[in-house]
Amino acid sequence: MRSALGVMLASAVSVFVIVAVWFWTYSPRAVLAAPDSVSARLAERLPAAASAKSTRALADEVEVTGTIAARPSTVAPSTVASSTVRPSAALASPALAAAAAALQMKAACANADALGVSRVVEIDTTGGPGFGFEHFKQLDFLADKEVVLTFDDGPWPSNTPAVLKALADECTKAVFFPIGKHATYHPEILRQVAAAGHTVGAHTWSHANLNSKKMTEQQAKDEVEKGFSAVKLALGAAPSPFFRFPQLQHGPAAMAYLGSRNIAVFSCDLDSFDFRAKDAAQIVNTVMTKLDKQGKGIILMHDFQKHTAEALPTLLGRLKAGGYKVVQMRAKAPLQTLAEYDEGLVKDMKLPTVSTRALSNVVQTVAQ
Ligand SMILES: [Zn+2]
Repeated sequence: MRSALGVMLASAVSVFVIVAVWFWTYSPRAVLAAPDSVSARLAERLPAAASAKSTRALADEVEVTGTIAARPSTVAPSTVASSTVRPSAALASPALAAAAAALQMKAACANADALGVSRVVEIDTTGGPGFGFEHFKQLDFLADKEVVLTFDDGPWPSNTPAVLKALADECTKAVFFPIGKHATYHPEILRQVAAAGHTVGAHTWSHANLNSKKMTEQQAKDEVEKGFSAVKLALGAAPSPFFRFPQLQHGPAAMAYLGSRNIAVFSCDLDSFDFRAKDAAQIVNTVMTKLDKQGKGIILMHDFQKHTAEALPTLLGRLKAGGYKVVQMRAKAPLQTLAEYDEGLVKDMKLPTVSTRALSNVVQTVAQ
């Protein structure tokens, strides 16, 4: 009896020891395994960490990567480009403040191998300067291999957040030209754009062609001002005085008006034609082919377009591999929107009811 009890006790102890050893050996791996996307991102980053350029602890990367992966996105992790060569970080800005800003962004970046921002330029928009060699050839501020990323027609669900994620993964910045109406539909998405540190201008109220023969000067002015006021209403802060004409149709009267309002006009150096691309690969090919030929430029894309959102991780990887550097454009001062348009828009947005009674006076729970 006593020996039988001994055998039972020994068996119980053995089982406990086996379970304890198993738990101690495998349990921590189960914690690290987690989602596939996290593992994939870590695998890509190993060479950077091994090259001793990064002093960041692995735990930091896991934590940050996990946070990014948890955000909703339509872009598959497998489409994130895995560049092997990182261009040397050149913070060759003439302005000390800009260099400091770029350094600050680099310090805040969780991706040691990111494309990043090489230079931040501040634009004095007095008199309405024009940018983009397709139409304006006076201000040649980009050096060879420098690009400016610009996105039109947002904000839009899924596509704009996917563009933001791709830019965040590469710690880089862009200029957005939202449509006023879209800003009123999805103000929370536009606020995400601004919160991520991107520059936000405007792209008219309704995407009307301001160079159309049917367009009066007053209507063109309304499109411009209402567009900016809508962006301001969505952001809760004044946008940058940066404007892009729909379809790059520069009406002379509207150009003169923008100049009088000290609003910079953006054309582009390089049109991605992403709105008519059949897939993401075509956008990447179009941009890289033109860029390799021209050597630099302001790139026109649309965060409104699904294929653009899908193409961006690969495109940013190709830019990095090709030794291109991203320049961020910022305005020296925000736009002073016109009060009549701010107020008119708020009035338009209100539902057709004039009741100002308190909720408890209108709705009473009478049965529960
Ligand atoms: Zn547009």
